[in-house]
Amino acid sequence: MFIGIDLGGTNIAAGLVDESGKILASDSVPTGAERGSDAIISDMADLAKRIAEKNGYKISDIDAIGIGAPGTIDTDRGVVAYSNNIPFRNVPIAEKISGLLNIPVHIENDANAAAYGEYIATGAKAKSFVFITLGTGVGGGVVIDGKLMRGFNYAGAELGHCLLVLNGEACTCGNNGCWEAYASVTALIRQTKKAMDENPNSIMHEIAEKEGKVSGKTAFVAASRGDEAAKGVVDKYTEYVGAGIASIINVFQPEELVIGGGISKEGDNLLIPVQKIVSRMDYNKYMPKTKISIAKLYNDAGIIGAALIARK
Ligand SMILES: [Zn+2]
Repeated sequence: MFIGIDLGGTNIAAGLVDESGKILASDSVPTGAERGSDAIISDMADLAKRIAEKNGYKISDIDAIGIGAPGTIDTDRGVVAYSNNIPFRNVPIAEKISGLLNIPVHIENDANAAAYGEYIATGAKAKSFVFITLGTGVGGGVVIDGKLMRGFNYAGAELGHCLLVLNGEACTCGNNGCWEAYASVTALIRQTKKAMDENPNSIMHEIAEKEGKVSGKTAFVAASRGDEAAKGVVDKYTEYVGAGIASIINVFQPEELVIGGGISKEGDNLLIPVQKIVSRMDYNKYMPKTKISIAKLYNDAGIIGAALIARK
């Protein structure tokens, strides 16, 4: 039995995961990122212990804990080298939690953990596999011959920070024009708001008012109801997503590419236009094509992936 923990900027989510990668129980607590690393580490250990005990296990029955955390993670030393969202600089999380609970702990970049979870969920047959997550930011993970590709310095596979537009929109990383600045939910909301300002009669206003806010769904819902301004937003957004995916495919030509994150819930409304754009921009015209699909695990991918990496 394993425990997978998804350490986010807002919540710490944990799951009791069996050998096959099934979540048997889950629980979460707020991260409280402002409290500093020691309080967060102690909460993670408590959460792991609680989830084991609530389900009839002692913590010593758990074979290993896997943690997915945002940022640059030295997976060999179990250290969060740097993170944007949580106050960790060179914190040896694995050693500290292992010291508190007396079981092995492995820590991994959160997008890599999710990629590994989705890779297992697809049956782990692809020789090369790419996962991208369209959420608040854009993350990614690359699995080659069953192994995560981390880069020599653990900072690799940051697919969201590939350049899409030279001197383009500002990105959270400090550069301009990154794919993330066009293909994240944050970017889609910005694009939606702009179109709403320019089109006061669009039904996007009505939808946003009902929801209480402009979200990543606003334009997709309005477009499905025939709103022209919303269709414009969705077409442009899917073009940004597709163009980025085409570049990634031109680098890796992976056997499979899976799209996850909040926007992936749009299903075929996202997938079909993206497949068309990719097919147009794919350098490879004569060899077998990358299979592109929507994620299967959605929010659970990080927990399951972290647990299964710890199993390994
Ligand atoms: Zn960036």
